[in-house]
Amino acid sequence: MKRVLVTGGAGFIGSYICERLLDEGHEVLCLDNFFTGSRRNIHHLMDHLNFELIRHDITQPILLEVDQIYHFACPASPVYYQYNPVKTIKTNVMGTIHMLGLAKRVKARIMLASTSEVYGNPLQHPQTESYWGNVNPIGLRSCYDEGKRVAETLMMDYHRQNGVDIKIVRIFNTYGPRMAVNDGRVVSNFIVQALKGEDLTIYGDGSQTRAFCYIDDLLEGIFRMMAVENFTGPVNLGNPAEFTIRELAEKVIELTGSRSRIKHLPLPADDPTQRRPDIALAREKLGWEPKIPLEEGLKHTILYFERVLSKGDPA
Ligand code: NAD
Ligand code: UDP
Repeated sequence: MKRVLVTGGAGFIGSYICERLLDEGHEVLCLDNFFTGSRRNIHHLMDHLNFELIRHDITQPILLEVDQIYHFACPASPVYYQYNPVKTIKTNVMGTIHMLGLAKRVKARIMLASTSEVYGNPLQHPQTESYWGNVNPIGLRSCYDEGKRVAETLMMDYHRQNGVDIKIVRIFNTYGPRMAVNDGRVVSNFIVQALKGEDLTIYGDGSQTRAFCYIDDLLEGIFRMMAVENFTGPVNLGNPAEFTIRELAEKVIELTGSRSRIKHLPLPADDPTQRRPDIALAREKLGWEPKIPLEEGLKHTILYFERVLSKGDPA
């Protein structure tokens, strides 16, 4: 039994990590400032004897005694990470320094939730971990992209200089139940719009691509990565099946049986035109690959949002 810290533990992905750790018999310290996370995501864990909730902002230092750290705190939706960009950078840089300082002091293994956004608007397709990316350092997405790139640098430097036991996962667009209704990312936006009978908002002409990974698949990759020895990463975790945003919109309309139409809004600045993970490294080192196709994952997610919306629940 380990004592495990999950930063961002009340968020979409973090809440699943907390849940699985408890299922495996570990003690969980869930740390969150509730910027984009919600008590609703973890309320079913609150009475668990091995679960502890800490309301804290990782831009401030904290002293804890733990064996492992899943460092997932950071708003992930462009709407939220651009709301207060300076705070996003502080969360990625100062927050990661604080977590690495903690990991160094207590000799804990630490995993960073990095992102496919470190590849920026990629000129190599699909993206391998050896690709250095094509990132605008001064744009609206930079607080997140560059923030995560610095976070990766910090991880590697603490590892090389101080021997900290690190893991870096580069997560590609992941979706599933527990995303917030107002999250702002494309899958939740389209499903909520379709269920409400509102127009689906495609930014630009919808020809940009993304590869969508269902949460259960991602979680399995995360846990395999944390368990494996002698491999720091970075490793891509994502589903290599690539879709245009227009295809996604059409699939959501079909699966919900909605009468919603599609409307086009301006494409945000620096929106990557294509993105798809090369997961050869994850296959080799972790024996991992996603199993849940988009249609199946969307069905689970649609059921979740139907439940949430029918309760009039703002989630
Ligand atoms: P999310 O917004 O649901 O979760 C982020 C959590 O971090 C929230 O609970 C939020 O309240 C918390 N948080 C934010 N700033 C904080 C701070 N300063 N101090 C303490 N807590 C803070 O997003 P998510 O999709 O669950 O993403 C989790 C992590 O995975 C993020 O680091 C994100 O960058 C990374 N990631 C996610 C995806 C994806 O597709 N979901 C892709 C790439 C990377
Ligand atoms: N997008 C869209 N409509 C929406 C939300 C997003 O067309 O309502 C597009 C967005 O411009 C991007 C893609 O969908 O091209 C994925 O956006 P998301 O915010 O989910 O993730 P990211 O851009 O970070 O991959």
